[in-house]
Amino acid sequence: MLSYTGLQLKGGTYLVKKLITKRRIIQFFIGFAIYEAAFVYGFNFMYLLAIAIVLGAVMGKTFCRWMCPVGFLMETMNTFKGKDTAKLGMYNYHKVGCPIAWIQGYLNKMSFVKIKLNPESCTNCGLCDQTCYITSLDKTFSLHKNKKSDPAQSFRCSKCLECITVCPTDSLSLKLER
Ligand code: SF4
Ligand code: SF4
Repeated sequence: MLSYTGLQLKGGTYLVKKLITKRRIIQFFIGFAIYEAAFVYGFNFMYLLAIAIVLGAVMGKTFCRWMCPVGFLMETMNTFKGKDTAKLGMYNYHKVGCPIAWIQGYLNKMSFVKIKLNPESCTNCGLCDQTCYITSLDKTFSLHKNKKSDPAQSFRCSKCLECITVCPTDSLSLKLER
């Protein structure tokens, strides 16, 4: 297995963790480029779908929280509603989605790169479950309790990767599995 939080920057911050904290800026620029390509330059939707399938096979549902202009607007509107309502909003939004989200959501289980727990360093503090909108609202899921279902492999996981950023012991990371 290959870990993708392994790249450490000066000062001890991990490269992937640093990128995740900039997700909304990345989403804004990619989302804007996709909007321009589709509505100004007439980029064929089928190509976008093909790119989404390849991305989904590699990392699952990455489009909604990293690339989608509509997802960006939804998340921005939700941030004004308070933490709990925002979580419910994202939970419901990712239950439905669009054709790209449907395909990528089903690929969450089969993707090559997955969010994995290192049970040896995990202190069971529960911060990851408190942060994730899936585990907060559906107690049959947990990122660190081994008898519960893995939210990162469920249809609703939008690969926001916030569970990775909040873990104080770096026990959650992206890993290549095959
Ligand atoms: S935040 Fe990290 S240490 Fe805490 S329960 Fe989750 S995986 Fe374990
Ligand atoms: S990436 Fe982590 S925090 Fe985000 S939805 Fe998936 S399991 Fe939850």
